[in-house]
Amino acid sequence: KFIAFEGGEGMGKSTQARLLQSSLAERGIEAVLTREPGGTPGAEAIREMLLHPPGEGWGAEAEALLFAAARADHVHRLIGPSLGAGKWVICDRFVDSSRAYQGYAGELGDEKVRALHEIGSRGLLPDLTIVIGADSEEVGKRLRARDGDNSDAIGGRDEEYHTSVNAAFDAFAQAEPVRFARVEGTGSVEEVQARVMTAVSALIGS
Ligand code: C5P
Repeated sequence: KFIAFEGGEGMGKSTQARLLQSSLAERGIEAVLTREPGGTPGAEAIREMLLHPPGEGWGAEAEALLFAAARADHVHRLIGPSLGAGKWVICDRFVDSSRAYQGYAGELGDEKVRALHEIGSRGLLPDLTIVIGADSEEVGKRLRARDGDNSDAIGGRDEEYHTSVNAAFDAFAQAEPVRFARVEGTGSVEEVQARVMTAVSALIGS
């Protein structure tokens, strides 16, 4: 089974991904925990290029191609083989981040982002994509709380951009309620984790 975590900056995705891996291990399920952009040496090298862009920045197309290239390496070298070996894979961000950031909040649009994903990663989709979301007031609060501390590792993107990213994730979840589960990100880590486990329970049972 392949589970992805999605959400805007500061939503607690990485923490929840780690906690899910432990909860699955307690149930005897081995899961590979990985992240995007990154997860393989090649994709981590591309991550460095994305997080440290040249002075004039990456253009929208180049940036989207780099994310797609990182994902292609990750899918072909780690995610695909792990799923093939019968392991579960938990991924901190996947293609829906490209759809939300480069496609929806950025300039590229959904169709082009999906086309890059078809070419790079044969359109592989998670069995379940957990969107950790919150209302726009909370989104702004979390973004500002991260200020100065990696609030946006890529930089140069304003609060409006990030509000739009979060809205995109919510819209994706509404449009495809089977592939997505939208989990409320407010409350304690434990409360959010309980919601994540409810969302994942159907996969564990099958
Ligand atoms: O999730 P994480 O903080 O590791 O992501 C690193 C950076 O890459 C973040 O600033 C995130 O906004 C950005 N990103 C992006 N487009 C993606 C995936 C991540 O802009 N498709």
